[in-house]
Amino acid sequence: MKIGVVGLGLIGGSIFKCAQQKYDVAGVSRSVKGVEGVSEDYAALKDCHIVFVCTPMNKTLEVLDKLEGILDENTIVTDVCSLKEFVSKKNYKFKFIPSHPMAGTEHSGWEHSFPELFEGATWAVTLKDDTHLEDFAVLKSVINDLGAKTILTTPREHDRAVAMISHAPMLVAQALCKNIENNELAQKLASSGFRDTTRLALSNVEMANDMIVMNGENIKDVINGINGSIDELLEGDYKEEAQKIKEFREELYCV
Ligand code: NAP
Repeated sequence: MKIGVVGLGLIGGSIFKCAQQKYDVAGVSRSVKGVEGVSEDYAALKDCHIVFVCTPMNKTLEVLDKLEGILDENTIVTDVCSLKEFVSKKNYKFKFIPSHPMAGTEHSGWEHSFPELFEGATWAVTLKDDTHLEDFAVLKSVINDLGAKTILTTPREHDRAVAMISHAPMLVAQALCKNIENNELAQKLASSGFRDTTRLALSNVEMANDMIVMNGENIKDVINGINGSIDELLEGDYKEEAQKIKEFREELYCV
Protein backbone atom coordinates (compact mmCIF):
# COMPACT_ATOMS: atom_id res chain seq x y z
CA MET A 1 0.00 0.00 0.00
CA LYS A 2 1.23 3.50 -0.85
CA ILE A 3 0.39 6.51 1.32
CA GLY A 4 0.39 10.12 0.11
CA VAL A 5 0.71 13.19 2.33
CA VAL A 6 0.09 16.78 1.17
CA GLY A 7 1.53 19.55 3.39
CA LEU A 8 4.49 18.41 5.48
CA GLY A 9 4.02 20.60 8.56
CA LEU A 10 3.60 19.37 12.13
CA ILE A 11 0.75 16.96 11.36
CA GLY A 12 1.64 16.00 7.77
CA GLY A 13 5.34 15.67 8.59
CA SER A 14 4.54 13.42 11.55
CA ILE A 15 2.25 11.22 9.40
CA PHE A 16 4.97 11.07 6.71
CA LYS A 17 7.74 10.13 9.16
CA CYS A 18 5.65 7.49 10.94
CA ALA A 19 4.05 5.95 7.82
CA GLN A 20 7.51 5.61 6.23
CA GLN A 21 8.37 2.98 8.84
CA LYS A 22 5.76 0.64 7.34
CA TYR A 23 4.61 1.91 3.95
CA ASP A 24 5.81 3.36 0.71
CA VAL A 25 5.11 7.11 1.18
CA ALA A 26 4.92 10.07 -1.21
CA GLY A 27 4.95 13.59 0.23
CA VAL A 28 3.94 16.77 -1.58
CA SER A 29 5.51 19.88 -0.13
CA ARG A 30 6.21 23.45 -1.15
CA SER A 31 9.01 23.84 1.40
CA VAL A 32 10.62 20.46 2.27
CA LYS A 33 13.53 19.82 -0.08
CA GLY A 34 16.07 17.04 -0.41
CA VAL A 35 14.06 14.37 1.44
CA GLU A 36 13.51 11.06 -0.33
CA GLY A 37 9.90 10.57 -1.42
CA VAL A 38 9.07 14.30 -1.23
CA SER A 39 8.38 16.47 -4.25
CA GLU A 40 6.44 19.60 -5.22
CA ASP A 41 4.48 17.69 -7.81
CA TYR A 42 0.92 16.53 -7.05
CA ALA A 43 1.33 13.91 -9.80
CA ALA A 44 3.44 11.95 -7.26
CA LEU A 45 0.14 11.06 -5.55
CA LYS A 46 -1.38 9.34 -8.59
CA ASP A 47 -0.60 5.76 -7.53
CA CYS A 48 -1.36 6.26 -3.80
CA HIS A 49 -4.08 4.18 -2.15
CA ILE A 50 -4.69 6.72 0.64
CA VAL A 51 -3.89 10.44 0.64
CA PHE A 52 -3.77 12.57 3.82
CA VAL A 53 -4.37 16.29 3.19
CA CYS A 54 -2.56 18.16 5.99
CA THR A 55 -2.72 21.80 4.92
CA PRO A 56 -4.09 24.78 6.92
CA MET A 57 -7.90 24.72 7.16
CA ASN A 58 -8.29 27.81 5.01
CA LYS A 59 -6.36 26.10 2.17
CA THR A 60 -7.80 22.59 2.40
CA LEU A 61 -10.83 22.99 0.08
CA GLU A 62 -8.49 24.42 -2.57
CA VAL A 63 -6.17 21.41 -2.21
CA LEU A 64 -9.09 18.92 -2.36
CA ASP A 65 -10.27 20.60 -5.60
CA LYS A 66 -6.77 20.23 -7.00
CA LEU A 67 -6.73 16.52 -6.12
CA GLU A 68 -10.04 16.06 -7.97
CA GLY A 69 -8.16 16.55 -11.22
CA ILE A 70 -5.38 14.10 -10.29
CA LEU A 71 -6.74 11.15 -8.29
CA ASP A 72 -9.14 8.50 -9.55
CA GLU A 73 -12.30 7.14 -7.92
CA ASN A 74 -10.45 4.31 -6.14
CA THR A 75 -8.26 6.55 -3.99
CA ILE A 76 -9.24 7.09 -0.35
CA VAL A 77 -8.62 10.70 0.72
CA THR A 78 -8.83 12.10 4.21
CA ASP A 79 -8.06 15.54 5.60
CA VAL A 80 -6.85 16.30 9.13
CA CYS A 81 -8.60 19.64 9.66
CA SER A 82 -9.54 20.61 13.20
CA LEU A 83 -13.11 21.25 11.96
CA LYS A 84 -15.24 18.82 10.01
CA GLU A 85 -18.50 20.49 8.89
CA PHE A 86 -16.95 22.77 6.26
CA VAL A 87 -15.00 19.98 4.54
CA SER A 88 -17.89 17.53 4.60
CA LYS A 89 -20.30 19.48 2.40
CA LYS A 90 -18.87 18.71 -1.03
CA ASN A 91 -18.69 15.37 -2.86
CA TYR A 92 -15.59 14.35 -4.76
CA LYS A 93 -14.72 11.80 -7.41
CA PHE A 94 -12.34 10.08 -4.96
CA LYS A 95 -13.46 8.39 -1.73
CA PHE A 96 -13.36 11.23 0.75
CA ILE A 97 -13.53 10.36 4.48
CA PRO A 98 -12.96 13.49 6.64
CA SER A 99 -10.97 12.97 9.85
CA HIS A 100 -9.16 14.79 12.68
CA PRO A 101 -6.26 13.46 14.75
CA MET A 102 -6.55 14.61 18.38
CA ALA A 103 -2.84 15.22 18.75
CA GLY A 104 -0.57 18.21 18.33
CA THR A 105 1.88 20.54 19.98
CA GLU A 106 2.19 24.32 20.12
CA HIS A 107 4.81 24.10 17.35
CA SER A 108 4.33 23.98 13.61
CA GLY A 109 6.32 22.91 10.57
CA TRP A 110 8.32 19.92 9.34
CA GLU A 111 11.21 20.55 11.75
CA HIS A 112 8.90 19.99 14.73
CA SER A 113 7.17 16.91 13.32
CA PHE A 114 7.97 13.50 14.80
CA PRO A 115 6.75 9.95 14.14
CA GLU A 116 5.44 9.30 17.68
CA LEU A 117 3.01 12.26 17.66
CA PHE A 118 -0.09 10.05 17.33
CA GLU A 119 0.98 7.36 19.81
CA GLY A 120 -2.04 6.67 22.08
CA ALA A 121 -4.11 9.48 20.54
CA THR A 122 -7.72 9.33 19.41
CA TRP A 123 -8.53 10.18 15.79
CA ALA A 124 -12.06 11.37 14.95
CA VAL A 125 -13.52 10.09 11.68
CA THR A 126 -16.76 11.34 10.11
CA LEU A 127 -18.15 8.96 7.51
CA LYS A 128 -20.08 10.39 4.57
CA ASP A 129 -23.42 8.93 3.41
CA ASP A 130 -21.73 7.10 0.53
CA THR A 131 -18.68 5.84 2.49
CA HIS A 132 -18.17 2.08 2.12
CA LEU A 133 -17.28 0.38 5.37
CA GLU A 134 -14.43 -1.50 3.70
CA ASP A 135 -12.83 1.87 2.78
CA PHE A 136 -13.19 3.05 6.37
CA ALA A 137 -11.57 -0.23 7.47
CA VAL A 138 -8.53 0.49 5.27
CA LEU A 139 -8.22 4.05 6.61
CA LYS A 140 -8.69 2.78 10.15
CA SER A 141 -5.88 0.24 9.82
CA VAL A 142 -3.47 2.96 8.64
CA ILE A 143 -4.54 5.25 11.49
CA ASN A 144 -3.99 2.36 13.92
CA ASP A 145 -0.52 1.86 12.44
CA LEU A 146 0.19 5.54 13.14
CA GLY A 147 -0.51 4.71 16.80
CA ALA A 148 -4.01 6.18 17.14
CA LYS A 149 -7.49 4.76 17.62
CA THR A 150 -10.47 5.97 15.63
CA ILE A 151 -13.69 7.40 17.04
CA LEU A 152 -16.67 7.72 14.70
CA THR A 153 -18.77 10.86 14.96
CA THR A 154 -20.71 13.34 12.79
CA PRO A 155 -19.26 16.62 11.53
CA ARG A 156 -21.74 18.67 13.57
CA GLU A 157 -21.18 16.79 16.84
CA HIS A 158 -17.43 16.87 16.24
CA ASP A 159 -17.31 20.65 15.76
CA ARG A 160 -19.39 21.23 18.91
CA ALA A 161 -17.22 18.88 20.98
CA VAL A 162 -13.89 20.38 19.85
CA ALA A 163 -15.25 23.85 20.67
CA MET A 164 -15.66 22.53 24.25
CA ILE A 165 -12.35 20.76 24.68
CA SER A 166 -10.04 22.77 22.47
CA HIS A 167 -11.23 26.02 20.87
CA ALA A 168 -13.00 27.68 23.82
CA PRO A 169 -10.24 26.57 26.27
CA MET A 170 -7.69 28.19 23.92
CA LEU A 171 -9.70 31.44 23.93
CA VAL A 172 -10.00 31.33 27.73
CA ALA A 173 -6.22 30.73 28.03
CA GLN A 174 -5.59 33.75 25.80
CA ALA A 175 -8.05 35.85 27.83
CA LEU A 176 -6.32 34.85 31.09
CA CYS A 177 -3.00 36.09 29.67
CA LYS A 178 -4.57 39.31 28.37
CA ASN A 179 -6.06 39.87 31.81
CA ILE A 180 -2.64 40.21 33.49
CA GLU A 181 -1.04 42.27 30.70
CA ASN A 182 -1.25 45.43 32.82
CA ASN A 183 -0.56 43.93 36.23
CA GLU A 184 3.17 43.66 36.84
CA LEU A 185 2.80 42.03 40.27
CA ALA A 186 0.52 39.28 38.89
CA GLN A 187 3.11 38.63 36.16
CA LYS A 188 5.89 38.35 38.74
CA LEU A 189 3.86 36.01 40.97
CA ALA A 190 2.57 33.81 38.10
CA SER A 191 3.95 30.31 38.57
CA SER A 192 3.38 26.73 37.38
CA GLY A 193 -0.41 26.78 37.89
CA PHE A 194 -0.84 29.79 35.62
CA ARG A 195 1.67 28.37 33.13
CA ASP A 196 -0.18 25.03 32.87
CA THR A 197 -3.61 26.69 32.67
CA THR A 198 -2.52 28.99 29.83
CA ARG A 199 -0.56 26.49 27.70
CA LEU A 200 -3.11 26.67 24.89
CA ALA A 201 -2.35 30.38 24.45
CA LEU A 202 0.79 29.12 22.66
CA SER A 203 -1.31 27.63 19.83
CA ASN A 204 -0.29 28.11 16.20
CA VAL A 205 -1.80 31.53 15.40
CA GLU A 206 -2.93 30.72 11.85
CA MET A 207 -4.73 27.62 13.06
CA ALA A 208 -6.20 29.51 16.04
CA ASN A 209 -7.55 32.18 13.70
CA ASP A 210 -9.21 29.52 11.50
CA MET A 211 -10.84 28.00 14.60
CA ILE A 212 -12.22 31.34 15.81
CA VAL A 213 -13.47 32.40 12.37
CA MET A 214 -14.86 29.02 11.32
CA ASN A 215 -16.24 27.68 14.61
CA GLY A 216 -17.31 30.99 16.18
CA GLU A 217 -20.94 30.07 16.89
CA ASN A 218 -20.06 26.85 18.72
CA ILE A 219 -17.32 28.66 20.66
CA LYS A 220 -19.79 31.38 21.74
CA ASP A 221 -22.21 28.70 22.99
CA VAL A 222 -19.42 27.07 25.00
CA ILE A 223 -18.32 30.38 26.54
CA ASN A 224 -21.96 30.97 27.58
CA GLY A 225 -21.98 27.44 29.03
CA ILE A 226 -18.76 28.15 30.97
CA ASN A 227 -20.26 31.38 32.38
CA GLY A 228 -23.32 29.38 33.43
CA SER A 229 -21.11 26.77 35.11
CA ILE A 230 -19.22 29.50 37.03
CA ASP A 231 -22.57 30.90 38.26
CA GLU A 232 -23.68 27.42 39.35
CA LEU A 233 -20.41 26.85 41.19
CA LEU A 234 -20.62 30.14 43.06
CA GLU A 235 -24.34 30.01 43.80
CA GLY A 236 -24.51 26.36 44.91
CA ASP A 237 -22.66 24.36 47.55
CA TYR A 238 -19.20 25.27 46.27
CA LYS A 239 -17.24 22.70 48.29
CA GLU A 240 -19.47 19.84 47.21
CA GLU A 241 -19.32 20.89 43.54
CA ALA A 242 -15.54 21.40 43.64
CA GLN A 243 -15.07 17.91 45.11
CA LYS A 244 -17.25 16.38 42.34
CA ILE A 245 -15.24 18.23 39.67
CA LYS A 246 -11.97 17.05 41.20
CA GLU A 247 -13.15 13.43 41.04
CA PHE A 248 -14.44 13.89 37.46
CA ARG A 249 -11.07 15.35 36.34
CA GLU A 250 -9.17 12.51 38.08
CA GLU A 251 -11.31 9.92 36.31
CA LEU A 252 -11.00 11.66 32.92
CA TYR A 253 -7.21 11.40 33.00
CA CYS A 254 -7.01 8.31 35.24
CA VAL A 255 -4.94 10.17 37.86
P1 NAP B 1 1.67 23.47 10.02
O1 NAP B 1 2.72 22.86 10.84
O2 NAP B 1 1.70 24.94 9.79
O3 NAP B 1 1.63 22.73 8.62
C1 NAP B 1 0.79 23.09 7.56
C2 NAP B 1 1.52 22.80 6.27
O4 NAP B 1 0.63 23.07 5.20
C3 NAP B 1 2.72 23.69 6.03
O5 NAP B 1 3.88 23.22 6.65
C4 NAP B 1 2.83 23.65 4.52
O6 NAP B 1 3.50 22.46 4.15
C5 NAP B 1 1.38 23.50 4.09
N1 NAP B 1 0.86 24.80 3.62
C6 NAP B 1 0.95 26.00 4.23
N2 NAP B 1 0.36 26.95 3.50
C7 NAP B 1 -0.12 26.34 2.40
C8 NAP B 1 -0.78 26.80 1.25
N3 NAP B 1 -1.06 28.08 1.08
N4 NAP B 1 -1.12 25.90 0.31
C9 NAP B 1 -0.79 24.59 0.44
N5 NAP B 1 -0.13 24.10 1.52
C10 NAP B 1 0.20 24.97 2.47
O7 NAP B 1 0.23 23.19 10.62
P2 NAP B 1 -0.33 21.85 11.29
O8 NAP B 1 -0.39 22.08 12.76
O9 NAP B 1 0.39 20.67 10.77
O10 NAP B 1 -1.83 21.89 10.78
C11 NAP B 1 -2.20 21.31 9.54
C12 NAP B 1 -3.63 20.85 9.64
O11 NAP B 1 -3.75 19.96 10.74
C13 NAP B 1 -4.64 21.98 9.87
O12 NAP B 1 -5.76 21.78 9.04
C14 NAP B 1 -5.01 21.83 11.34
O13 NAP B 1 -6.34 22.25 11.59
C15 NAP B 1 -4.86 20.34 11.54
N6 NAP B 1 -4.54 19.91 12.91
C16 NAP B 1 -3.59 20.56 13.64
C17 NAP B 1 -3.31 20.13 14.94
C18 NAP B 1 -2.28 20.82 15.81
O14 NAP B 1 -2.37 20.74 17.03
N7 NAP B 1 -1.32 21.47 15.23
C19 NAP B 1 -3.98 19.01 15.48
C20 NAP B 1 -4.89 18.34 14.68
C21 NAP B 1 -5.18 18.79 13.40
P3 NAP B 1 4.55 22.41 2.97
O15 NAP B 1 5.50 23.54 3.23
O16 NAP B 1 5.15 21.07 3.11
O17 NAP B 1 3.80 22.59 1.68
